[in-house]
Amino acid sequence: MSELEPAAGTDEDASEDPGSQPGSRWPRRLAWLGGILVVVVVIALVAGTSLVATTIAVLAGLLILRTGWFFLQSFATPPPEPPEPGKLRKVKLTYRCSICGAEVRMTVAGSEDPEPPRHCLEDMELVAPID
Ligand SMILES: [Zn+2]
Repeated sequence: MSELEPAAGTDEDASEDPGSQPGSRWPRRLAWLGGILVVVVVIALVAGTSLVATTIAVLAGLLILRTGWFFLQSFATPPPEPPEPGKLRKVKLTYRCSICGAEVRMTVAGSEDPEPPRHCLEDMELVAPID
């Protein structure tokens, strides 16, 4: 696996580059496949296992690694900062939960047309702007 780690790191960094072009993806994927193939062959030769079993094991390991990395990244991303008080707008909006009937009045929001709050796991319905 030690041969795979540097390649995986550089691939992640390059794919997150906003200036990267979509046309440059295929050579990178082919390089990935080649790297995986080399790792599979080396492991199969060293450990004396069959190529098919080693391929499945390496692909499963990559999938688990990828899934774990995805969850770690989502945990590591902090929620967005609340906007400064000067950027907030005064609104008078009333929302009603279509499931339980609860009503909520919004008095300050980041924009004049904010996203509705959620209640009972559903978006609340805008009742009427109060003037
Ligand atoms: Zn509700």
